[in-house]
Amino acid sequence: MAHFSRRLLNMAESETLAMARLSRELKAEGKDIINLSLGEPDFDTPDYIKQAAKDAIDQNFSHYTPVAGYDELLDAICLKLKRDNNLDFKRSQIMVSTGAKQCIANLVMACIDEGDEVIVPAPYWVSYREIIKMAGGKPVEVLAGIEKDFKVTADQVEQAITAKTKMFMFSSPCNPTGSVYNYDELESIVKVLAKYPDIVVVSDEIYELINFVGAHISIGTFEAVKNRTVTINGLSKAFAMTGWRLGYLAAPEEIAKACIKMQGQFTSATCSIAQRAAIVALTNGPEKVSSMVTAFKKRKELAHSLLSDIPNMTVNNPQGAFYFFPEISYYIGKSVGKYTIGNSDDLSMYLIHEANVSTVPGSAFGAENYIRLSYATSEDLITKAIERIKTALLNLK
Ligand code: PMP
Ligand code: GLU
Repeated sequence: MAHFSRRLLNMAESETLAMARLSRELKAEGKDIINLSLGEPDFDTPDYIKQAAKDAIDQNFSHYTPVAGYDELLDAICLKLKRDNNLDFKRSQIMVSTGAKQCIANLVMACIDEGDEVIVPAPYWVSYREIIKMAGGKPVEVLAGIEKDFKVTADQVEQAITAKTKMFMFSSPCNPTGSVYNYDELESIVKVLAKYPDIVVVSDEIYELINFVGAHISIGTFEAVKNRTVTINGLSKAFAMTGWRLGYLAAPEEIAKACIKMQGQFTSATCSIAQRAAIVALTNGPEKVSSMVTAFKKRKELAHSLLSDIPNMTVNNPQGAFYFFPEISYYIGKSVGKYTIGNSDDLSMYLIHEANVSTVPGSAFGAENYIRLSYATSEDLITKAIERIKTALLNLK
């Protein structure tokens, strides 16, 4: 039998990807599964970006690129960060990777040692916890439930800080809740972080453009944390380019260099063709993708009204991203047929097998008693899926 490392054995499989795999397997068996598990836009990549990739192939952009990415792309990222986020960066502070996920992995591997602590407001995106653990670090989870719209307070953050705290890592708009921190909330957290100048702030802004409340605020614009904030973003969500695998980070130069060194041993760089397309995507700005955002908003409203109609489930009203994170504790302990729902994992399994709807259990995001529903799918499928969920939940006694 093969030997596996402790690193691997201590690590959980990505639950979002596991549920997506299970959906595919059941579909292949002929089941009519509606997939609300995987967080990815159902739109096609816009034509002007696809054309840039085709041109790049014809122009033979087929060699290894610099590890950090093509200079023109680093410049386009600096331009975007200034134009959209009021953040000042130069080429030497940017790294392009195979997705925002790889940016986070490089960063954590480069900066976290055995026993170091990383504060992660929960619910958090599924991979933060496992990447931190992989590096030997300790995720310190600070929970905010639906009653607080899933947003942690500055006091909670301060109470979690110890001499071992190295990072504070969060996403806004948030995956899995869709919550968005407003200016005042960010400012109060910054006031706490200002007292601890060695803590690196990691701001995952991959849902920046899918925001229904107006302008996006980057925590890196606050003076007190400006010089120690790592801003992470990518093309997967806003430009419907999940498969292209392109994300980037902007950091203090020494951190960017450390991440690039790490990347040089892991992946060399991301795909040359995706990089050329990214130059065009980022240079053109957010206006070109605003129709997708409008569609997400409409779907959100539809899903919200349908979910609100399900008895004994509390539904949040997300301000960004494309997820709902309803509270389902009423259904814990209930049964039907061979199913007894002991936790959110059981509920997700029940829903996929009996309602043919795939979701992700809240446990994957550090919050039991919730499930995550992605509404990045058509209005018809959203309607059908929520009807099925409702029927299945009402069958539980
Ligand atoms: N951060 C968050 C909050 C996410 O939801 C995701 C998943 N899309 C990622 C990072 C990783 O995105 P990607 O690797 O596709 O750029
Ligand atoms: N980030 C998306 C999600 O949360 C895609 C899957 C993943 O990378 O985890 O569903």
